[in-house]
Amino acid sequence: MKIILASPRGFCAGVNMAIQCVEEALELVGSPLYVYHEIVHNRHVVEQFVKEGVVFVDTIDEVPPKRTVIFSAHGVSPEVRQRAKDRGCTMIDATCPLVTKVHMEAIRYAQQGYKILLVGHAGHDEVVGTFGEAPDAITIVESPEDVDRLSFTQDDRLVYLTQTTLSMDDANVIIEAIKVKYPRVKAPPSDDICYATTNRQLAVRKLAPDVDLVLVVGSKNSSNSVRLTEISENVGTRAYLVDDSSEIDHRWFEGIGSVLVTAGASAPEHLVEQITDELLERYAGHIETSNVVDEDMHFELPISLRVLRGDRRAARV
Ligand code: SF4
Repeated sequence: MKIILASPRGFCAGVNMAIQCVEEALELVGSPLYVYHEIVHNRHVVEQFVKEGVVFVDTIDEVPPKRTVIFSAHGVSPEVRQRAKDRGCTMIDATCPLVTKVHMEAIRYAQQGYKILLVGHAGHDEVVGTFGEAPDAITIVESPEDVDRLSFTQDDRLVYLTQTTLSMDDANVIIEAIKVKYPRVKAPPSDDICYATTNRQLAVRKLAPDVDLVLVVGSKNSSNSVRLTEISENVGTRAYLVDDSSEIDHRWFEGIGSVLVTAGASAPEHLVEQITDELLERYAGHIETSNVVDEDMHFELPISLRVLRGDRRAARV
């Protein structure tokens, strides 16, 4: 069987930065270290950190006063920041800069009097955080049917923003519906769907039609991983989302000559290797990498972590 590894796949710059934040903070402040929401949406990453003394919380009230708390890559609303501040917590903000960019756009457009149509999944951590920046100005739009139900007039100043990890195709359908209903709607200055989401989707769209099966490594609550399986299905190739090799059902491979393996932006590479090793061992054959887009993105660690690092080092001198 031929195994094709999609490139790019797996960790993006935002996930790398967020994970490094937790690793460094663990070294600096020790355990228990509190993280608001899953640092990234991957079961293995979260379980490993739990073993190392990280406590993931769903509300700031679960963080004891004056402790250190990290905000996840998906970002948080100002209300959550204020709550942590009120409890005297040291905050480390591991929000991906590309999510922060959308927050800033929401704040700016709300200040300019725009009504904001936020295209995304209600309830996703990122959308909850962005919504919290300007709750009176934002309406969440999940589908073209939601657009039908909007009651803004042509005189309202409207702008649309999007969640960073949407399927480009799905987002375009909704954005087109918005443009048809409100031709004067303003677009964001640059695409909100991030480079990592875009590139991983481009790779699947290009490579999936030429294989019999697609395996996406990622967790079920990882939006960008789920989108990769949908894109594969949309181009006519069966796809499965698996957290690791234990979730593979080998009946999927009956009569299969080729498989594309990719990974969502929060899925560690060692899980991809575990899967390809197992496939090679069981089915013999060969493996090749198919690179669709070059990636070279890196994000600096947040200032809050660098300050904490400096404080702790100074305290040791
Ligand atoms: S998927 Fe995109 S927005 Fe999300 S953490 Fe990665 S780079 Fe940032």
